[in-house]
Order: sequence, then C-alpha cells, then structure tokens
Amino acid sequence: MQRIFFNDVVTRDGFQIEPEFIPTDVKVELIDALSRCGYAKIEVTSFTSTKSIPMMRDAEEVMDRIQREPGVEYTVLVPNVRGAERAMASQADEFNLVMSTSETHNLANLRMPRERSYAALKDVISLVDGRVAINVSLSACFGCPMEGVVPAQEVISWAGRFAELGVRGLTICDTTGMAHPNQVNRLCETLRKRFPTLQLTLHFHNTRGMGLANVLAAAQQGIDRFDGSLGGLGGCPYAPGASGNICSEDAIHMLQAEGYETGIDLNRLLAVARQLPGIVGHNVPGQVAKAGRILDLHPEPDFVADIRSKFA
Ligand code: ZN
Repeated sequence: MQRIFFNDVVTRDGFQIEPEFIPTDVKVELIDALSRCGYAKIEVTSFTSTKSIPMMRDAEEVMDRIQREPGVEYTVLVPNVRGAERAMASQADEFNLVMSTSETHNLANLRMPRERSYAALKDVISLVDGRVAINVSLSACFGCPMEGVVPAQEVISWAGRFAELGVRGLTICDTTGMAHPNQVNRLCETLRKRFPTLQLTLHFHNTRGMGLANVLAAAQQGIDRFDGSLGGLGGCPYAPGASGNICSEDAIHMLQAEGYETGIDLNRLLAVARQLPGIVGHNVPGQVAKAGRILDLHPEPDFVADIRSKFA
C-alpha cells in the first residue's frame, strides 16, 4: 500500500488572507488538535514582516506554545534572512522558502524579480548552514494568471538550481489552480526522474475544481507528499478568484478510499474540520465534513419497510 505524507497548511496559507485576526490561543489549540490526527507535517506560521501580514505577528509565541507530537514535523515559512534569524530560535523542523517560477507572479507577489528572490533565498540557505532542513516552495509551477502556462522546463531549471544548493525538498505549487491532470502527470514524472533524492511535495488549489483530480494524478506518478488546508481555506491575494487550497480532509478521504495509507485518523480530523467555520466566522469549501464519509450511512426512511414488504 502506497504511503502518503500529508502536510496541513491551514494556519499559514489558510489563515493568511483571513481578514479578522485569529487569536493566538485559537491557533495553538487548532495546531495541537491537528497534531493528534496523524499528519506528517504542519506548516505552523510564517516569519514574515508583521506589518505586511499582521495575522502572523504571533509567530514566535505560536511556535513556543504548541505541543509537539513525535513523528510530526513543524515547518515555518521564512521569506528572507531577517525571517530566518527570527525563526532560528523557534526550533522548527524545517524552513519553507518561497519564490515563483513566473517572473510576473514573483514581481506581484514578492515585489522583486526572480533572480533577486533566488539570491535572497540562497543567503537564507547559507545562513542556516544545514542546521534546519530546507524546503523550497516554487509557486505558479503549472500556470501564471498573468503570463499563462509556465513551461515545464522553467520549473525544472529552478528546481535544479535549488537542488544544487542542497535543499531537502521542493514543493511544486499550483498557486492559482491552473493545473490539470495530464499536465501534472507529465511534470511529476519528469521531476521524479530528474531529482530522485529530493522530497517532492505537490501543492494544489481547487480554484477550478481540478484539485483532487490533480492529487490523484500525482499520486499515481508515485508522488507521496501533499499539502492541503483544513476546510480548503486559503488563496492568493494577487490572483483574484484564486480561492482555496485543496481541502485536506477531502483529499485524505479520497486517498483512503483509493487504498492509500495516509496515517491520518479521518474521524478525528473531521471533528476538527467541523470546528473551522466557527473559528474563521464563515463557511468553508470542504465537502466531506458536511456530507460525511462514503460509508457514514443514513438510516432508511420509515416508508422503505412498507415498500419492501409489498415486494416481498
Ligand atoms: Zn496554497
């Protein structure tokens, strides 16, 4: 049975664009609840400038207060050297660095050309100097809402440059939900061949309803690491309409139904997911938390017994 390692990004990617500050206590409680569900990894927070993303202003406190479960990795987003210096004290298991494979998306999202981003991330990697595992998330790997399709060669070339710097893993992100299964299939096959020793994670958005189809396409290519967000929360502020990471519990429910081993206690996870609308104050896109699992059966309506006896 193929093992899948799941990373929940709800308290970082998911919460990042929520308009109302979510109290530190609530974040800590949610992360602790997720820790007990069997995740391989949780992206806890980000050490970005507190002015640009006030939601993450409690990064140090959250990292300090969460209860770490053995077997779960706690990763944090680190945008630059300043963030890395702050994050070093947080005892994170991994630093997640980000840049885009699309020049225009990088200019819009990170306010600098890709080469500048690469140089800044290279500085972070040398500052860290092997003390913390490094993952690099490459945004817009399947398409850019301003430039269109991002050629696979572009993704492979950036992946190669980070591989040279000795990163442990790469997350291939479909930041704006433009990927489709055949494209995923091809890119995953190529990346696995080219970078057999890198941890490859796929990060899909469900913007156009193709999120779970893409997960399955990647899993069938042997990809065993996925990001998802509880309830399907999240989006990208520079890609209007690009709401929604894939929903973790929906993806895990699908993967379990397809026979993959996820290590997740789905019942427990669904119970946590059902608390999410109360936390963010609005409905969330996730479906299984509403509909129940495939085999959460409903009692038959009373009249069915009458009909059954009529045909007996
Ligand atoms: Zn995302």
